[in-house]
Amino acid sequence: MEHLTKEQIEELKQMLLEWKKQLLKESQDSMGEALSYEGGDEIDRADTEAGRLVMLRNLDRDRKVLKRIEITLRKIEYGTYGICEMCGAEIPYERLKARPIAKLCIKCKEIEEENE
Ligand SMILES: [Zn+2]
Repeated sequence: MEHLTKEQIEELKQMLLEWKKQLLKESQDSMGEALSYEGGDEIDRADTEAGRLVMLRNLDRDRKVLKRIEITLRKIEYGTYGICEMCGAEIPYERLKARPIAKLCIKCKEIEEENE
């Protein structure tokens, strides 16, 4: 990650840490909500279930992002951050700033999306 300056890496790291903190807080909040979420009468039942499902799905998504943030933070530590996992190209700072957990360069990302 020689294409990134120390300051840029530090900035991205702070973004990741801040994001992580926020996600942890959010997932704690919605976890409590999901557990205590009991609708009133029978009519609300379907809404309650749907609401709970949405919450659980969000939790699942948050957990995945959290995992990516953890992996990314470790990569910063090991000095492999900002390198495309597929082709080894350097991921530009602008892209990382827009998406600090990006693991692919734009070219590989496009290929990956085409294959989906
Ligand atoms: Zn690539």
